[in-house]
Amino acid sequence: MAKKKKLPKQLAILDEDLCTGCDACVVVCPVDCIDKVTDPLHPAYAMGICTIDLPVCIGCKLCAQVCPWHVITMVPTEEVLKEPRVAELLAT
Ligand code: SF4
Ligand code: SF4
Repeated sequence: MAKKKKLPKQLAILDEDLCTGCDACVVVCPVDCIDKVTDPLHPAYAMGICTIDLPVCIGCKLCAQVCPWHVITMVPTEEVLKEPRVAELLAT
């Protein structure tokens, strides 16, 4: 049976409402877990915003360090797990 990935001590949480879609975080992520999404029907998404695939994130902090708008925060994993929807996502 495949061994489950151990969760890192902290995870990158991105405030999608403030992301400008500049791509700086996408370029540095060593595990390619940041994706650009667009939704032509939603004006705020016109430039594209980023989302982080939390089950893949290794908590390296690089994205938070390079984001020019400081919209990525490193949050202790135990805090992130208090959100039921995210806890379910990380448990699978
Ligand atoms: S903390 Fe590291 S692994 Fe996680 S999203 Fe940011 S750059 Fe990627
Ligand atoms: S670096 Fe910051 S502003 Fe730029 S795409 Fe990533 S989260 Fe958005």
